[in-house]
Amino acid sequence: MIGNLLEKTKFENLNLNSPLLKVLNEEGYDYPTPIQFQTIPSALQGSDILGVAQTGTGKTAAFTLPILQKLNSTQSRDKFRHPKAIILSPTRELTIQINNSIKIYAKYIALKHVAVFGGVKQGPQVALLNKGVDIIVATPGRLLDLINQKLCSLEEIKYFVLDEADRMLDMGFIRDVEKIVNLLPKKRQSLFFSATMPKTVAKLADNILKNPKKVKVKSTVTPIDRISQSVIVIEPQEKISQLVTLLNDNSLKSVIVFIKTKHKANRVCQKLTQIGIVTDVIHSNKSQSARQKALNDFKEGKIKILLATDIAARGIDVEAVSHIINFDMPSTPEDYVHRIGRTARAGANGIAISLCEPSERLKLFRIEELINIKLNVIKSERSKLELIENFSENNQNSNKSEVRNTNFSKIKKIKSLKVVAKKTKSIIKRNAKKDKLKSKKKKVERKING
Ligand code: AMP
Repeated sequence: MIGNLLEKTKFENLNLNSPLLKVLNEEGYDYPTPIQFQTIPSALQGSDILGVAQTGTGKTAAFTLPILQKLNSTQSRDKFRHPKAIILSPTRELTIQINNSIKIYAKYIALKHVAVFGGVKQGPQVALLNKGVDIIVATPGRLLDLINQKLCSLEEIKYFVLDEADRMLDMGFIRDVEKIVNLLPKKRQSLFFSATMPKTVAKLADNILKNPKKVKVKSTVTPIDRISQSVIVIEPQEKISQLVTLLNDNSLKSVIVFIKTKHKANRVCQKLTQIGIVTDVIHSNKSQSARQKALNDFKEGKIKILLATDIAARGIDVEAVSHIINFDMPSTPEDYVHRIGRTARAGANGIAISLCEPSERLKLFRIEELINIKLNVIKSERSKLELIENFSENNQNSNKSEVRNTNFSKIKKIKSLKVVAKKTKSIIKRNAKKDKLKSKKKKVERKING
């Protein structure tokens, strides 16, 4: 029985053909991940897919492999190749990464593909498009730009992938995405992936997909289970010295430090450089070549610390990231999940440390609500050794749970007090208005009565 189940979960049982199976074998992919197992057979049969999964779950292969197989079996004999598949992704880094994955998976298939993204000259991308391509991986802005210049056409698209849809919306690309969708042929297969499924994303999916197969993997739970997460409550002025203390620890082999803004990231980089800590920064003000160089240096281990803003860090896939440090708490709980998802990739374990200012407790509460885990909270005054020991401890320690439970109720109390304060404010405002009206009325009455 168990033998049968294991047999079923092999790539060979997903109806993939030999050029793809050969690559997967070479890449050392022994078994499909849950998103691949659930997506690949249906996508091969032509179903639209609505996938709820985040990066790190193997979703790139889940949508790429079926498209490669289908394109390979229906290759036209025309000399010039019109794009047949379009994959939209929110960031340049993710676009490059998906294109690189296609290069790997299509090793034994004669298909042409191109990455189209902004921040660099369009010339080389246009040159590749002019030679004819089968697959375009693109960010929405540059793609529309090229379409408007009549340098790219979507008329023959058969397969459409929208990756990281929630991020697309967060980054304000919804209109661009809608414009692109309107340019696609109605008869097509669409594969839609998002880490989260708030109403706006569900509505977008509804407009794009037809009777999709719904696939949801417990992605947010599985990787998070493998990440030891801690929070250091700290005053803002102490954050730099706390960061330096953490970075000086030798157990931090490969670290991404998340910082809220580009300017702050530059400042932190300067401060670290001044005291001899080698690091580099990626954010959207950096040129694409500088971003790519920083990322490559980090991947190759030339630098062990990378500072990043949320936008630039999207799509970073470095298997050996040992630690994530949230120098600033993320704006949304979903961002927290994306950030810490940069570690514990490809089956590894990871450590995430967040520096939380006392005024940001509500953010912490929301994160805990989303991931359904009470995080291990440490006060910044504790010794470094104690901190590091705590990081590897089991978060579910009962004593800590008790402390956290009281913290939880305190936060809830603060939350409800805030609501009460807000309500009281509006009542006072309303009463003041009424008083004003009353005195006006009295004045008028006095005038009338002489
Ligand atoms: P993704 O979620 O697509 O960004 O993939 C995350 C990482 O998992 C990438 O480094 C992939 O190379 C790797 N990966 C994808 N599928 C598998 C698999 N079936 N077995 C092992 N590693 C995989």
